[in-house]
Amino acid sequence: MLKTSKIIVYDEPTVPEIQIEQIEKFLKGTFHIEVEIRKNFFENANDEMFQKIASTRIFELKKPFSRHLPTEIEIQNERKNTDNSQNEEKILYDGFEFEKILSEFISNSENNQETLHIIFTNKLTCTFDESDFRYHARALIGTNPSIISTTGIIEAPAKPKEYYLELMTNFTKENTEKIKEKYKGEFLDYNDPRLSKIIQGYLLQSIMYYETGDTFCNDKECRLYNAHWQKELLHSQLNKKFCSKHEESFKKITNHS
Ligand SMILES: [Zn+2]
Repeated sequence: MLKTSKIIVYDEPTVPEIQIEQIEKFLKGTFHIEVEIRKNFFENANDEMFQKIASTRIFELKKPFSRHLPTEIEIQNERKNTDNSQNEEKILYDGFEFEKILSEFISNSENNQETLHIIFTNKLTCTFDESDFRYHARALIGTNPSIISTTGIIEAPAKPKEYYLELMTNFTKENTEKIKEKYKGEFLDYNDPRLSKIIQGYLLQSIMYYETGDTFCNDKECRLYNAHWQKELLHSQLNKKFCSKHEESFKKITNHS
């Protein structure tokens, strides 16, 4: 039995590759529960929210989070929700702090266990890892609300080592395009038409995590696999299978009888 009776998904309008109608169909067809699609979490946001979001920006990768005091320009930029994902210099946010702030802005009537909120964003969410003492990009921040960062999907799992090597040794704008072309297909890029399918895997991860508390899987064949490489991500998600353990738990939670 699912504890969730309704999923509310907030689209990210700057990333049409999400294909929100496909996502809606996929969720309804997979979990057979009520799914509501909303345009954008930040659509009706006020200055207070933008100010708070800007305060979660990270400026030093090798230091744990400390709250940033945003400038007026930074707050304005939040309001515009411009997609800076393709800029060289990306704006980074602390994923857990960001999630906390978004949860404050979910209305009381929808802030309950039975309603799972899944928010797409173009912002690059990161989490600080105590083991190597630095921030890493993350595609998914659990639990409720769950945040799925479309920029994180592109940036968090690593591209092939050879790609970085070639890039480092041939660095001009023209060469970068050529090298990207050469490795095309081996990793996701912005505006990649496969993004919608890959996102379905992250949706499964976020819902299964919320329902069972089970984090990622270690089996590379499983859709809950925590891919560190783009190649693994494409493999586990386009393959569309669970491992036997997660097949079981998936059946268990989706069995409505
Ligand atoms: Zn698994």
